[in-house]
Amino acid sequence: MIKDYISFVGEESINELFILAEKLKNLKVLHVNSTHKGGGVAEILSRLIPLMKELGIKAEWKVIKGNEKFFNFTKKLHNLLHLCIPTSIESEEIVYYLKTIYENLNKIDTENYDVIFIHDPQPIGLVVKKHPGQKWIWRCHIDTSAPHPKAWEFLENFINAYDACVFHMPEFVYEGIKIPTYIIPPSIDPLHPKNIELSKEEIKNILTKFRLDLDKPIITQVSRFDRLKDPFGVISAYKLVKKKYDCQLVLVGSFASDDPEGENIYKELLNLTADEKDIFILNLPPDSHKEINAFQRGSTVIVQKSIKEGFGLVVSEAMWKEKPVIGSNVGGIKRQIVHGVTGYLVNSIEGLAMRIKQLLANKEFMHTMGLYAKERVRHRFLIIRHLRDYLILIHKTLTYPAKMTFSQFAKGG
Ligand code: UDP
Repeated sequence: MIKDYISFVGEESINELFILAEKLKNLKVLHVNSTHKGGGVAEILSRLIPLMKELGIKAEWKVIKGNEKFFNFTKKLHNLLHLCIPTSIESEEIVYYLKTIYENLNKIDTENYDVIFIHDPQPIGLVVKKHPGQKWIWRCHIDTSAPHPKAWEFLENFINAYDACVFHMPEFVYEGIKIPTYIIPPSIDPLHPKNIELSKEEIKNILTKFRLDLDKPIITQVSRFDRLKDPFGVISAYKLVKKKYDCQLVLVGSFASDDPEGENIYKELLNLTADEKDIFILNLPPDSHKEINAFQRGSTVIVQKSIKEGFGLVVSEAMWKEKPVIGSNVGGIKRQIVHGVTGYLVNSIEGLAMRIKQLLANKEFMHTMGLYAKERVRHRFLIIRHLRDYLILIHKTLTYPAKMTFSQFAKGG
């Protein structure tokens, strides 16, 4: 219930939501992404849609389908949007992408909605079948500040056929966008089983079930098994810390159905750490919310050493639990951590190791940082703010002059 959030954000913020939603009652809103489970987008949609419904909006969520070949291409696109590595996009891949998009359009009814949110690059092409009078919004969740030109060119073919687009940070808005562009950071839900309070007993039971020693410090990173999350860099940093502190490292991850690389990276990590009794590589089912909650609460230090990061919900999740987070100085992590106040931003493996050691040596300081971290999330990264931003976005987009359909756009107007 929306009213249950009053204790986190105050009554005024909740009343504001109802006022904003008044004019949007019975509006049919569809969200489309590429996976039901695994990763931050699914996490957010699973919480945001019920709240939109409670406000009287007819919100729905659909997921596109694709085979391995399709998701291999979209993962390559994802990587190329984050990092400009030397490779190209083949025309055969584009043809296959479009074929899958048209197959989805035959199955997903997009006609009966007033506003359609398309999340991330995987389903971006659905806009080819935009019906007159509809408003389409492309919601980007990744860091597109320095994309591979070919990957951006691919997206640009579609982006300008939308009515609006949304990025997490101004730096992610790349050149060539000709439509209204908004900046809305994501959020976490304090009432999600992943974020609610847990008793000391519950935390202890979960951690010991995974054979962790509660008498030794625990350093944790929670992330999909993905090279861009740099689990290998975390292991190197941990080994430097281990020379001075007898501590444990936990890498908690899961697979997402739209990420074909996860399984191989998981296996590589298992091989690399086979002889390390204090390193735990844990592959959990994607709905292990209570376990993730317990790991975040029960750890001494939380790290997030991503090479690139759209936002990194895991950072706010840990900060909400009063943990100082040490994260890479990249993308959305920079937006969450206030360096030296709520945690630390680092630029290298050595930097990460140094900051972990600094925190392990000063428990009291760590506690104070954790309190600041929670307040930062309360003010900026909770779901009520996110919902309010989406309602304003919908209002603005509905009142913006009508745009061309994709085919008019493709013909140059
Ligand atoms: N997550 C999870 N289990 C895991 C790894 C991640 O439930 O083993 C969750 C995590 O708690 C967070 C989301 O998946 O809510 C990941 O979002 P984030 O923005 O950090 O990264 P993304 O996977 O979207 O790149």
